[in-house]
Amino acid sequence: MAIQLLTETVIAQIAAGEVVERPASVVKELIENALDAGAGSIHVSIQNGGQRLIRVSDDGSGILTAEVELAFARHATSKLRNTDDLTRLATLGFRGEALSSIASVSQVTLVTRHRDDSIGIQLRIEGGTVTRRQSVGAPAGTVITVENLFYNTPARLKFLKKETTEKRYITSLITRYAMAYPHIRFLLEQDGREIFRTSGSGQLADVIVKTLGLEHFRQMLEVDAQDSARDDRPEVRVYGYTSAPEYHRADRTHITLFVNGRWIQDSSLSFAVAQAYQNVMQDGRYPVSILMIQLPAHEVDVNVHPTKAEVRFRDSHAVFATVQRAVRQAVLELINAPEVSSGYSVISPDARERFNFPSSSDSRFSGFGSNWYSGQDQLEMDLSLDNPGQVALRRANNDDTDWSDIPEGMGAPDKPRTLPVLRVVGQIGATYIIAEGPAGMYLIDQNAAHERVIYEEVEDIIVGGKTPEYLTLEQFTFDVSSADSRALELQSEVFQALGFLLEVFGPNTMSVRRVPALLRQVELSDFFREIVKLLRDDPQMGEDVFRDALLLRVARGGSVRAGQVLKTEQMQDIVRRLERSRTPLSCPEGRSTLIHISGDQLAREFRRG
Ligand code: ADP
Ligand code: MG
Repeated sequence: MAIQLLTETVIAQIAAGEVVERPASVVKELIENALDAGAGSIHVSIQNGGQRLIRVSDDGSGILTAEVELAFARHATSKLRNTDDLTRLATLGFRGEALSSIASVSQVTLVTRHRDDSIGIQLRIEGGTVTRRQSVGAPAGTVITVENLFYNTPARLKFLKKETTEKRYITSLITRYAMAYPHIRFLLEQDGREIFRTSGSGQLADVIVKTLGLEHFRQMLEVDAQDSARDDRPEVRVYGYTSAPEYHRADRTHITLFVNGRWIQDSSLSFAVAQAYQNVMQDGRYPVSILMIQLPAHEVDVNVHPTKAEVRFRDSHAVFATVQRAVRQAVLELINAPEVSSGYSVISPDARERFNFPSSSDSRFSGFGSNWYSGQDQLEMDLSLDNPGQVALRRANNDDTDWSDIPEGMGAPDKPRTLPVLRVVGQIGATYIIAEGPAGMYLIDQNAAHERVIYEEVEDIIVGGKTPEYLTLEQFTFDVSSADSRALELQSEVFQALGFLLEVFGPNTMSVRRVPALLRQVELSDFFREIVKLLRDDPQMGEDVFRDALLLRVARGGSVRAGQVLKTEQMQDIVRRLERSRTPLSCPEGRSTLIHISGDQLAREFRRG
């Protein structure tokens, strides 16, 4: 064959091989673009493992009409101008290769509207050639649909794995990104079924519970360590979650690492993580970890590999050391000092002195604590009951999803644990939960504990400027006097903040359009009767006082009762949330939530030395 220059199309297809290996790589590039565009919400929809269709929608900046074709040109990027920029990169993308590569091996439809454009644009590209371009109305943001991936490169198509495998890769990818970006709402649908959804609450713990299941989440330890810059060493921060020594896997693939928000593969760093478990984890087993590593941009060279999955550190030794120390510290803290933080009145100083926290070498440790985690996966609990007249909320359906291949763990510590990790043993009198912790036995009042956690959680949501989940009611009204109605109206902002929507329905009738979802099992006429009475007693009640009173009643209404038989998952859920409460030892009404009896106290009672 004579020497000839390859056509642009062939060059693009060859280059595509490096970036677009499989459907999951397309998803990864599109998600990264959405993140770079400042999206708050990313919706991924997949058909047939992504080969038939991948659609990623975001509410980010959108692309300017004048630039849409350029976005698909090779080496066209808005994120980089010169090589110096590489040292201060704040975006995940920078090569300008993804869209052109993807478009060269599939049929792409782009619908986008830039925030500054009044009208959107739709572009259709087949095998790299634009076949349609038209103006369309569209919300600000971008929707990219990739159809029939590799339809024009049969060799690649042949290398695709089974549909179920590709699906798993994609799920695994999305869950990882969801954990690295807990502030972003992610939604994954495969073949029309919702597979995974996050709320964007910023609570890493929420995302992990959805990904790993509650039981496994309870076996994760928080990691948070920072080494400040010294001499020639960079500042490095490591945070996230890593498993307790009892929770392990057969290989290192469950160690997930993000560097400055970028998911990377780095065998020496995963080795550092695994090594931190030396002598505490059985040989040949590896932890489950999700760690975020943060260091100044100029300390990392991200331009090493087309998929950007490898990076090079200027001072890899420092990064290695910080990661290892951070993980080791979390593991050792668990082993040495799993104590109830001091200062709580329920535990007398005398009793606290007597807590003699066992160390790992102490035989009592294995006796008491060795199985304070039990193994099986728990998915989200569902306390909802059907209530006529209410529109049920849609919930993520995690059933029959294969999670085995899914990245496990992760996140920034949102709230430090104030109680140790507890294992639920059972329930007494349908009223108290018995739990075991490293320092003994805990008897928990299920109603008081649940009230406490709901109170704080709803308070956090409100303080964060968000509205708690609510139920839309089809028809609910109650009678009021005109004075009551005025008093209620005065508090309308407080009602709204908590997820209520009240409207004047007639001269003496209020209509309730929405209530917090927590009240799904509550008799609403009783509830509002009480609220009306509260305001009648003090019609000029300040908003803050009313807010607290209303919040308390929502917490009361939403919590499990004494005398209610609970499933293990429900008890575990309450206990897990209580572990994270700021003030876990009393309910918002001042009752105690728990009684603690130390291992020593028990031993003394039974005269065991
Ligand atoms: P890179 O991300 O490396 O810049 P891409 O080929 O992935 O390269 O994207 C090319 C350009 O298209 C980006 O630089 C960006 O300006 C624009 N772009 C791509 N996807 C989006 C999106 N979802 N929202 C806004 N702009 C986008
Ligand atoms: Mg990109």
